Amino acid sequence: MYRQVLKVPENLSKLRQKSSPVDIDSAETSHIITDMFDTFRVLEGYGLAAPQIGIQKRVIVISPRALGVGEEEALLMLNPTLETSGEQQRVVEACFSVPYVHAYVNRFEQCTVSFIDDKGEDRSLDFSGFPAACIQHELDHLDGVLYIDKVSRLQRSLLLKKIHKVIKKKEKEEKERMKEFMEDHMSLQYGDGTEKTKTTYSKKRKAKARRKRKRSRS
Ligand code: ZN
Repeated sequence: MYRQVLKVPENLSKLRQKSSPVDIDSAETSHIITDMFDTFRVLEGYGLAAPQIGIQKRVIVISPRALGVGEEEALLMLNPTLETSGEQQRVVEACFSVPYVHAYVNRFEQCTVSFIDDKGEDRSLDFSGFPAACIQHELDHLDGVLYIDKVSRLQRSLLLKKIHKVIKKKEKEEKERMKEFMEDHMSLQYGDGTEKTKTTYSKKRKAKARRKRKRSRS
């Protein structure tokens, strides 16, 4: 089942919680796996961690595109553990849970991730560069860490402000769309009673068309 992604700012405290390991053979885990794949298929993107869809369990899904590996299916990792090595690299990151923004963060250049796959087999894979950064980003989610926790306090507050601003703008646009829809709907349904509204809109439309004709002539 597709599940809604939890986002900041409203779900910040939930996204900051640490997740617990999954019981590999349980029915609960097979439900989690189904929900993870169903949600990720809709979202696409590079990766998804279970806490992002409100499940505080150590499960992540990574797209083969993010990893540069040949597997066609997204790679499921149950109870993954990470060993990092090498220098720090600067990577630009974005996240479904931190909408409308992106930022540069430091990540280790190399990592080895050990996990149990969707067939119940123990696996261990080495990554470097961008794929290594993706793995570190997703595993951070399991410990309640977001990439915005890796930038300066000032930058974090600017990013959160920007998110807030975009959300407010979208809410306002939605409200206006609803108002317009309701007014059109009312005038259609009740005719004369809302004649005034109807006239206002058609006047606006006529004026717009007039301007357009004028422009095309000149
Ligand atoms: Zn993320």
